[in-house]
Amino acid sequence: MTAEKANLLQDVWKTKHGSQVCSHSRIIEPLEPKNQRNGYHVVCRECGSIILDPYNSFAVGMTVHVA
Ligand SMILES: [Zn+2]
Repeated sequence: MTAEKANLLQDVWKTKHGSQVCSHSRIIEPLEPKNQRNGYHVVCRECGSIILDPYNSFAVGMTVHVA
């Protein structure tokens, strides 16, 4: 997912849920491009939040389960 698409998801989330905080409990996917200087980031597909992936899970091909 690109940062532009993440921004769109953030707008959709705000429209639907206002100031409600997302638990990022649904599906996430890597932020493109993957050659990021400060570590790998993932995007919550529900709210569009861009999150630093502390485990670099996608770098090693693992599936992430966000609590
Ligand atoms: Zn979220």
